[in-house]
Order: sequence, then C-alpha cells, then structure tokens
Amino acid sequence: MIPVSSSSVQLPTQKTSADTPWQQLFSESLLTPEQLVQRLALPETLLTEIKQANELFQLRVPEPYLDRIKKGDINDPLLKQVLPLGLEAVQTPGYVTDPLQEKDSNPIPGLVHKYKSRVLLITAGACAINCRYCFRRHFEYQGNAISSERLEQISSYLMQHPEINEVILSGGDPLATSDYRLQKIVSKLESTPHIKRLRIHTRLPVVIPQRVTEQLVSLLKGSRLKTVWVLHINHPQEIDDQVTRVSRNLKDNGMLVLNQSVILRGINDNMTILAALSEALSEADILPYYLHTFDPVTGAAHFNVSDQEAIKLWQALQAELPGFLLPKLVREIPGKPSKTLL
Ligand code: SF4
Repeated sequence: MIPVSSSSVQLPTQKTSADTPWQQLFSESLLTPEQLVQRLALPETLLTEIKQANELFQLRVPEPYLDRIKKGDINDPLLKQVLPLGLEAVQTPGYVTDPLQEKDSNPIPGLVHKYKSRVLLITAGACAINCRYCFRRHFEYQGNAISSERLEQISSYLMQHPEINEVILSGGDPLATSDYRLQKIVSKLESTPHIKRLRIHTRLPVVIPQRVTEQLVSLLKGSRLKTVWVLHINHPQEIDDQVTRVSRNLKDNGMLVLNQSVILRGINDNMTILAALSEALSEADILPYYLHTFDPVTGAAHFNVSDQEAIKLWQALQAELPGFLLPKLVREIPGKPSKTLL
C-alpha cells in the first residue's frame, strides 16, 4: 500500500448534484428560460415561446433530472416533458382546467374523496418538476393547503367515514414538504384505527432521489400503516443508478414500490419504449401499475394520444411482456366509482 502524505497531490473532486441536499436542489429547480436554454444548449430561437408558456405554468426542472437530458437534443424525451412550448396557449375544444372535476369531490379543503375506500390529501402545493402535461397544472393549491387546523378537520372527516381504509398523499408532490411535517400527518392518520394503508404518489424520488432521506425511510418503516409508493416514471431514460438505489432501499425496508405512467405523444407512445420502460422498472425493483391515458387539460392537447391508439399500443405490449410487467391501461372518468380499464 502506498502511504498518502499530507503533501500528496490532491485530485480535484467535482461536486455533483448527488452531494447536494435535496432542499437546495428543490429550491434551485425554478429556472429562467435563459438558464434552461444555456444549461441544455438549446437553440436561442426557442426563447420567445418558452417565455410565453412560462407565464402560463412556471418552468421547473431540478439538476438531477437535467443531468439525464441529452444536451442540444430538442427531441430528448425527458426534455419534452418539461419544455414550455407556444402550443400551450392554444385553446382546444374539450380541454378544461379541471379535467377530472376534482372540485366536485373536495368536501373539505385539502381532501379529495372520489372513491369509496380511499381519500387523497393535497399534502403540498408544489413539485420539484413542472410536467407540462400535468392534469393539476391549474389546480387551486392555495385554497387547499393543509394547516394544523385543517389537519384536525381531515382527521374528524376520516373518523366519520369508517369505509375509508387508505389515505393517498398527493399534491403537488407530497414529498415537497419536510419530514417533520410528514411525521405529523402520518401520526394523525395512525390515530384513526380504520386507516390501514398509506399511499404516496410522488415523482420526487425520480427527479431528486436525495429526497428519500434515511429519516423519511425510518419514519415510514416505523409506522403501523402499510406504505405503498407509487412513483411516476414515463420513460426508461428517467431511471438511473440513484433512482434504482432509492427504490431498492424502500423495498428492502418492507415497502411496496409501484409505478404509474401517462401515455404522451412524442415521448412514450411507442411499444418498444413502453416495453423498455417495464423492463427498466423491473431491474429497479419497481412494479408497473397503471398506464394512464391522457387527461384533457387546457394547455396540453399536443400530448394527447387517443384511446384507440392507446389500446392498440397496450395490446402490442401484452404480446411482448410477462403479465406481471404489464401495467393496467386506464382512463379516469369523473364521477365513476373507480378508474376505468380500457
Ligand atoms: S403533480 Fe406530478 S405530474 Fe403534476 S407537475 Fe407535479 S410531478 Fe409533474
């Protein structure tokens, strides 16, 4: 062994986003159009439309996700999910600001009760990434913020509804909030005897894997509630070593890790890509759960893939994959008692 003396030449260490605390990555995810164009070596001619669409829905991409986008490639499937386009200003008949009519299932602020045995909590009003196709891009988060007082109201609502056995933490992204606040919410849910499961719908472990802190893992591992993670990954290129490490850690700590995707025009509307996605999820110990058809939200019509096309794609996928890697193809239809299988 060669002894290392204090006079040894030190190799320069390059600081990467892997060393940066998640809170910093989160706060730095709000980019200006100029920063995005420069960081990804995009044509400056795009700036005008990026600025226009940025006014409609703010540009937000964290560094670990930027790292996975190929520089200078305007067709990169990850870039296409976050790139503001002039097309977002187009008004398309049938496309609305609340495509799932969630306002009709919002009995108290912060709580959405659509299906009999499950409720959804709007745990946070922000995300670490602003996906241009998001069906909640126009959601009224401010009026749905869960204060301590509202958490008490939610708790009373749950007590009055013994048919509810599962609570879904959603948002925004539920992990956009601190571990301390999550602890308070989980404790409140644990005190309701008929709640058995906690489901976490999140994209943060994918876009900032550092968000899954040891503190968070031990908080959930120690809970009496069975924890189910539903990640949101649309393309195999979104899964890197860090994402894999995180999902394996959750699995090793006794939690179920599932994935839901949305079929998006020009991003994953292709059997080969969807099959590769299921294979990559399997490698990362994540089970494909849902493949959603597109919800008709104002400003995102250019992502739409028709139900007929989606069904054809899914049938081709069925011939390609083992059943346990085949996600269920679903559409959410407002007012129905569950998602609709296509
Ligand atoms: S809620 Fe999900 S899909 Fe919508 S912007 Fe946030 S991370 Fe993206």
